[in-house]
Amino acid sequence: MTTNPPIIGVKKRIAMVAHDNKKKDLLEWARFNRGTLSRHHLFGTGTTGSMLENELELPITQFKSGPIGGDQQIGAKIAEGDIDFLIFFWDPLEPQPHDPDIKALLRLAVLYNIPTASNRATADFIISSNLMNEEYENPTPDLIRYAESRKRQVLA
Ligand code: PGA
Repeated sequence: MTTNPPIIGVKKRIAMVAHDNKKKDLLEWARFNRGTLSRHHLFGTGTTGSMLENELELPITQFKSGPIGGDQQIGAKIAEGDIDFLIFFWDPLEPQPHDPDIKALLRLAVLYNIPTASNRATADFIISSNLMNEEYENPTPDLIRYAESRKRQVLA
């Protein structure tokens, strides 16, 4: 549920996704950070999510597998204000069949000012931030006003 202004609570809603060549990396990172992750709500695309659930023995809400719509589902959750964080280890060396979905997800993460880690170093810095233990008022752009002004322009 979206708050206005959007608040990222102390208990964060973290979505995790990894392309096949990056799953091992994400698994190692998540194992190392299991204690911190256990204090938050966790989500993942199908294969990544089930792999993490087995490994961490923590509940992970699983969407569809990425190539069959999982990235789009996470994007929709971001637009609805239901995901606060994105850990997405995407593969810069392999083309993906669902490339447009990946681009769409990353675009929405930027649009909604969602902290996003695309690699381990960024994920390490994010997870060790003091803000992980605090509420954070997310200064997203005023998208409602943007949509209203577009409507006025189109209808003028
Ligand atoms: P997967 O999807 O977790 O189902 O492998 C990841 C992706 O490719 O987006």
